[in-house]
Amino acid sequence: MHKCFLCLICKTKILNQSSELTSLIKRKSRELGFYACGISRVRKLDEDASFIKKWLHEKNHAQMKFLENRIEERSNPGKLIPGAHSVISLASLYRTPDQQNKDCSYRISKYAYGNDYHSVVLKKTKELSRTIAEASGSKPGACFVDSGTLFEKKWAALSGIGWIGKNTLLVHPQAGSYLFLSEIITDLELDYDEAMPDQCGTCTSCIRACPTGALALKRPYTLNPSLCISYQTIEQEEGENFSFSQKNKEWIFGCDLCQEACPNNKKPVFFYDPDFSINPAIKNFTDTDWNTMNKSEFDDVFKDSTLKRGKLERIKRNIRMVVKNRSQL
Ligand code: SF4
Ligand code: SF4
Repeated sequence: MHKCFLCLICKTKILNQSSELTSLIKRKSRELGFYACGISRVRKLDEDASFIKKWLHEKNHAQMKFLENRIEERSNPGKLIPGAHSVISLASLYRTPDQQNKDCSYRISKYAYGNDYHSVVLKKTKELSRTIAEASGSKPGACFVDSGTLFEKKWAALSGIGWIGKNTLLVHPQAGSYLFLSEIITDLELDYDEAMPDQCGTCTSCIRACPTGALALKRPYTLNPSLCISYQTIEQEEGENFSFSQKNKEWIFGCDLCQEACPNNKKPVFFYDPDFSINPAIKNFTDTDWNTMNKSEFDDVFKDSTLKRGKLERIKRNIRMVVKNRSQL
């Protein structure tokens, strides 16, 4: 793309094309329901690659062996997609005012309230990629949603959507951190946004809210997954090194405590997306409903939900562990 002779007219044309395309991408992203869109030039993320290699070497990734794969490609989109010039970062806000039934003592992380975000966000991301391809005459870019393939929070920060907070999540200055991220890697040259500087300042609310030490004052901006309730309730298999924090007396899928404590999540910003509104079962279920649910009910009620990735056996295990923790003073 944009291989041309060195005439001024042609250069001007190219410049116009990149700014027109950039405007189209930003406009179309809003029409598709993305809360924010930012664009960065492809580059190699050497510092991040070194950080993750050290982090993996120290065995911080617990059972998440997949994080060991393809570090070189993951830290360098140009290697992952030869010829790539730009990373388009997109953020979908899933924060809703919906709440679980007050009579339910088991808590589910907000990110799992609605339909499975992987398919919802990927569909929108692919549609944007198709629109860009049609408008530019190029081939559609490669789309990613929480695949672990890219350092997506870093790209979102580089493209000015937000900054990576001390809770290790991407924080948008108005909308906070209840965001699903996705990306399009394209060979198009576009207009690039400026990275957003860290705005956590002296705040340590997320760290102080974390009950397990997964976030710690002595190592801000770093998460210890094996201590994190989210990891323990969603990812962790039983077996060797299985652990379940005794401090967890309520969470059966994920944990939002560090997000709930963040001042940027207390601003009244919601963005209605029917796909992310609360599943009626999550909204209405009581403890008894969760305790007595069988596999066919689970498969039926949560067929479109993020929860189906959690598997009923794991949720039941988490319920048993939470109940056990409550019996221990
Ligand atoms: S999700 Fe929960 S356990 Fe994990 S870091 Fe945040 S507050 Fe701590
Ligand atoms: S709670 Fe404070 S320190 Fe943590 S991410 Fe939010 S602003 Fe940053």
